[in-house]
Amino acid sequence: MPSTLTTAMDYDAIVIGAGHNGLVTANYLARAGRRVLVLEARPIVGGACVTEELIPGSKWSSCAFIAGLLRPEIIEELELQRFGLDLYQGDALSFSLFRDGTSFTMWKETDRTLREIEKINKKDASAFLDFGVRLQRFAGLVTPYLLASPPERSEVLAAFEAAGEQNLFDEFTLLSVRDLLDRYFEDERLKSMLTFFGMVSIFGGPSTPGTAYTYGHHSWGEFNGNFGQFGLARGGMGAISEALAAGARHHGAVIRTSTPVDTVIVDRGTATGVRLADGSVITAHQIFSNADPKRSLLRLIEPGVLPPGLVRDVENIDTRGSMARIHLLVDELPQYLPFPDANAGPQHHGHQLLGPSREAFEEAAEAQRRGTFPSTFVIEAVTQSVTDDSLAPAGLHTMTLGIQQLPSELTGTTWAAEKEKWADLVLEDLFSYAPNLREHILARVIITPDDLDSEYLITDGNIFHGSMMLDQLFGARPIPELANYRTPVRNYYLCGSGTHPGGGVMGANGHNAAKVALGDIAGVTRPARAAGAPTANRTRPWQQRLVGALMSTRSGRWVSYQAARQPALRKITAYAARVR
Ligand SMILES: Cc1cc2nc3c(=O)[nH]c(=O)nc-3n(C[C@H](O)[C@H](O)[C@H](O)COP(=O)(O)OP(=O)(O)OC[C@H]3O[C@@H](n4cnc5c(N)ncnc54)[C@H](O)[C@@H]3O)c2cc1C
Repeated sequence: MPSTLTTAMDYDAIVIGAGHNGLVTANYLARAGRRVLVLEARPIVGGACVTEELIPGSKWSSCAFIAGLLRPEIIEELELQRFGLDLYQGDALSFSLFRDGTSFTMWKETDRTLREIEKINKKDASAFLDFGVRLQRFAGLVTPYLLASPPERSEVLAAFEAAGEQNLFDEFTLLSVRDLLDRYFEDERLKSMLTFFGMVSIFGGPSTPGTAYTYGHHSWGEFNGNFGQFGLARGGMGAISEALAAGARHHGAVIRTSTPVDTVIVDRGTATGVRLADGSVITAHQIFSNADPKRSLLRLIEPGVLPPGLVRDVENIDTRGSMARIHLLVDELPQYLPFPDANAGPQHHGHQLLGPSREAFEEAAEAQRRGTFPSTFVIEAVTQSVTDDSLAPAGLHTMTLGIQQLPSELTGTTWAAEKEKWADLVLEDLFSYAPNLREHILARVIITPDDLDSEYLITDGNIFHGSMMLDQLFGARPIPELANYRTPVRNYYLCGSGTHPGGGVMGANGHNAAKVALGDIAGVTRPARAAGAPTANRTRPWQQRLVGALMSTRSGRWVSYQAARQPALRKITAYAARVR
């Protein structure tokens, strides 16, 4: 769809929405010399990747709180460190406290984690390594597609087949997370803990086919080149968006906040500008929507412009499955049951998971289907002020809770009516893991699925802008007619998480949309891939091939495990897990 773009316009490009993806698009366009205007409805940039002073004097990552998916290529190309971004890690990646009072810490170092799992189940410790290598192999085959136009699903399957890994494709895309984990592990606590990563913003539970992909989606996370690791952003997740905004401005982009766009103006099938909520019109050659696909097509485009068949397909995009946050200001850190003192420890440094239980996840799925709440909640938490003193005054701490598998709409009532009562229920569960908190919560702010829809402008509060099941992935994301970032309205593009390769603070969607649109200006119908061609073995570092070969035999697995659990060989193990 090449475009000549000859008419005089106010801007070359308008980006609707300053979520992190919209800002990534703005950066790449501005760096290509385009005159870019970003229009954001909220008073602050970032969308779901934002830091806000929710209670005067303290700041929280309101929505996303873990940084692990942001593509390193984007961090580097857009010089985000130069524009103020500081990503960091604590010593513990995650801490899980089970319902029987036992706990588990996942450390940055593989050997420490393996020895910790040995305390739970020796066989599972060795299975954990095997699982990690399989996951890394899966990520290795899919990652080359991330910074690229979406491949057809058949192309992805063909790449797995060519690499002799069809079984791996099936495992991580078709299976339920329950079936996936049952293939590898024995211990119910470990399986429950790992199940959580397949429950993020889903409509369903551990037995729902396809939830293994939600697990796999998080697998291409890396931190400083280390596979499967994640960290935090100093200043909260908004620091990512602020760095992106600073970079875009540096290259000439104009960003206006508190400026909601009402409509995309379409003239004879071509987008020519936007009408703001105040009625004013701004014209541009290319328009990008960072909003989710339903909002971008059904609300921003006037009725009658799109073919009825497409409207029906967009209406059918699956946006069920949401989550909620409760932000707490506390004057004492949670004293989790195994650590009965108020001092900060590794349990407070990373992601905290309280009461993971596969039965609880199954019950939550049932409740979600009925539009109600389960009897108990699995709670995730982050206490970031422990490692970042810019977030709360001395003596106080920020604590953020997350609850997954929530219905967007409640049966017979509303989130507005239930919000406070629901938060009370969640806090009662929290007190069973950290009883001291009952007396130490100074204030709270609740963000429900309904708030995600109305305040953060995410349809149905689906944090990925659309479910991440195989029917809505790759060349079918969000639907086949809208894959590749273009829409049937000429010069109107999608650049948010509803596009390939999906949700999370990744930036890939914004990058790919910009490349496609720049290609359209240049008259290139299918721009060259931004990353290398996804040929499995060419993109696989030699150390991973060696690990793969070792792990393919029983004796090799034993040797690998013995090496991986040795602190003295830590550097070698870390090197083997490097993805770049
Ligand atoms: C509660 C929650 C927790 C999450 N946790 C994590 C996590 O820990 N780690 C992680 O990696 N990911 C997490 N995610 C997912 C991740 O945050 C999102 O997938 C990602 O931030 C979406 O980015 P985006 O730029 O595509 O869209 P958004 O961030 O949704 O940005 C879209 C922007 O468009 C604006 N907009 C919409 N309509 C208009 C309009 N008409 N006019 C002007 N502006 C408009 C919105 O205000 C918004 O700023 C979480 C998301 C949520 C909601």
